[in-house]
Amino acid sequence: DFTVDYFTMTEQDAMEYAKAINLFPEDAELTCKEIGDGNLNYVFKIVNIKNHQSIIIKQAGPVARISDEFKLSPDRNRIESEILGLQYKLAPGFVPKVYNYDPIMNCTVMDDLSNHEIMRTALLKHKKFPLFADHITTFLVNTLLLTSDVVVEHKEKKELVKQFINPELCEITEDLVYTEPFYDCPRNEVFEGSKEFVKEVIWNDKKLVLESAKLKFEFMTNAQSLLHGDLHTGSIFIKKDSTKVIDPEFAFYGPAGYDIGNVIANLIFAYANGKFTIEDKETRDDYINYLITTIKDVINLFTVKFNKTWDEKATERVARYEGFKEYYLDTILRDTAAVAGLELLRRIIGLAKVKDITSIQEREARIRAEKICLTAGKTFILSRQSIKTGADFINVIQSAE
Ligand code: ADP
Ligand code: MG
Ligand code: MG
Ligand code: MG
Repeated sequence: DFTVDYFTMTEQDAMEYAKAINLFPEDAELTCKEIGDGNLNYVFKIVNIKNHQSIIIKQAGPVARISDEFKLSPDRNRIESEILGLQYKLAPGFVPKVYNYDPIMNCTVMDDLSNHEIMRTALLKHKKFPLFADHITTFLVNTLLLTSDVVVEHKEKKELVKQFINPELCEITEDLVYTEPFYDCPRNEVFEGSKEFVKEVIWNDKKLVLESAKLKFEFMTNAQSLLHGDLHTGSIFIKKDSTKVIDPEFAFYGPAGYDIGNVIANLIFAYANGKFTIEDKETRDDYINYLITTIKDVINLFTVKFNKTWDEKATERVARYEGFKEYYLDTILRDTAAVAGLELLRRIIGLAKVKDITSIQEREARIRAEKICLTAGKTFILSRQSIKTGADFINVIQSAE
């Protein structure tokens, strides 16, 4: 009985559940497959054999799939379904539609996006998506600026802050992104060939470690915008003409640059992968150029759209003071650079890896790829005050080689 007590569903349960909430007729012939590849949740794809209609049910488990060391409240599924609903309105076309949220079973029913591909997987096949920068910057400006005090009435904004208090998932970020990568934490997983470099260039640099502490406190205290909170290329579904953001269970009010910086860093992982895995020089240069252009466009288009949306939508009186918009945008770009740096470091040093790097087979190539990420990451953090334009971001990446 789905209406009494929470339990984690099997594929059979998920099909019965789908009928019980009237997603399909009682006599429909269904198939179901659990397709989750993440660490925390179960994702069921249910298809009606007759007319091929399909839906996705995502259920939060009580513990992480990788290790029951991470116990997490299934309430994160409420957060995910509620923010998907909000983002669907703020950034139409860029997130799946939610059909149902169930606070007992801790599951959400949404559009099946199987006609798209997970962006990290597509980038590892060295595919190009010329519309991505345009799409993701619309998503970023709309979800970040339109949830901030610049636009939202302040009492209403504080209600949103309350709605998206997310202490457990924030703690994961505070530990994995802002703390563990900066010392020889037993939970880190440093590639043996990079260990010396990490010790010398990251852990022994007191100045860098101090900056990580300042950034950690900014992450915990700057309730600026309603973040996605986990916006890497594994949280983006993509095809030529469409971009859809999924998996916002880490959502909370934090610094706007957190989401933008994650997008940038994950494009840099794809760049490092392309650089060290594409053998043909012409193909390699072409793909690397595509990624460099995309990174530059994300920063520059974000800036253009941010300015336009601010001019059209700001409601806060002081937002009109001369110079305030420029000041505010500067702080977002500064935080974007810092978070790009943090993400670059933590995916190389910390527990959660990215396939872009771990799939580089040749040992020396992997070490060189990791060095680029670590060197660029460090520069992004230390020089964040002066990294503001697409060209500045590209300069940091190209100087890291
Ligand atoms: P987790 O929080 O566990 O990482 P995700 O939301 O990222 O879960 O989903 C895990 C995987 O399930 C995705 O990588 C994707 O392959 C599949 N998936 C998730 N949502 C959908 C969807 N709406 N349509 C199709 N596949 C999906
Ligand atoms: Mg995920
Ligand atoms: Mg996943
Ligand atoms: Mg997730």
